[in-house]
Amino acid sequence: MSHTPGTLFVVATPIGNLSDASARMVSTLKEVALIAAEDTRHSQPLLNYFGITTPLCSLHEHNEQSQSVQLIEKLLNGESIAVISDAGTPGISDPGQVLVNLAHQKGIPVCPIPGANAAISLMSVSGFKDSYFLFVGFLPTKNQEKVALLEKLKHAAYATVFYEAPHRIKATIKTLCEYFGETRQVVLGRELTKLFEEVHRTTLKEAEEWISSNANRLKGEYVLVIEGLEIDTDTLDMTRHDKLLTELIEKLSLSDAVKLAVTITGEKKNFLYERALLLTSP
Ligand code: SAM
Repeated sequence: MSHTPGTLFVVATPIGNLSDASARMVSTLKEVALIAAEDTRHSQPLLNYFGITTPLCSLHEHNEQSQSVQLIEKLLNGESIAVISDAGTPGISDPGQVLVNLAHQKGIPVCPIPGANAAISLMSVSGFKDSYFLFVGFLPTKNQEKVALLEKLKHAAYATVFYEAPHRIKATIKTLCEYFGETRQVVLGRELTKLFEEVHRTTLKEAEEWISSNANRLKGEYVLVIEGLEIDTDTLDMTRHDKLLTELIEKLSLSDAVKLAVTITGEKKNFLYERALLLTSP
């Protein structure tokens, strides 16, 4: 590996199947001066398996700020560092972004070593034709925040990916069913890349039954992707778009309001722009 001294490597590790480890993952972890791991005890078996003896330090959500400052010092002194999380890609619903952000601010080179990621793995087997999708990760635990987010997402024209813990999966499917509707298509990915992997595409209503039909389905790791709404412009609920645009135009310039409305609704820019002009015309 030839790289600039003092490079920060963001290294993906397997999400359950050691065979998904890449040759670059192994060589990078062997060659850096230090590995910052989310949980050093959790990562030790992986490192042992590949004969990696590089020193470890911890970088988790509770020490990310202070530890990142110290790691930046080392990087500035020319030591290369790799950051890894318990599984998958660091910084994706995992620690790492605070350190990466600081590194960019200090002009430190940052290099991704790509690999496993639960969201992309499931999206790749969803079969949904949406060419773009939104990654939400874990839903907020505070009810008010969760409701506000789901209200925004339920009419989106793009597929939406969620992570969920096994003890909340049943309740979450029920909630998603309430917001997105019983007939909306969902793909559930359980224990991806592991021995008991399941990929199941169905409706949100049937997903509840699928999970309840087998006690094992209340265990294991889950990722979900919900299909985006097919927008038929002839039957669009104009009141909803007009209400949103009116509120945004009150606070922003016309073009910023339209840009934000495009992001929120997934509608075409020209269509919303025309609508905004109509709303603002005397
Ligand atoms: N950084 C990781 C990634 O790249 O996917 C995600 C870390 S996040 C803390 C952990 C969540 O990812 C789990 O609760 C689950 O929702 C999802 N996940 C991780 N591994 C998975 C797997 N093998 N099968 C299904 N979902 C998984």
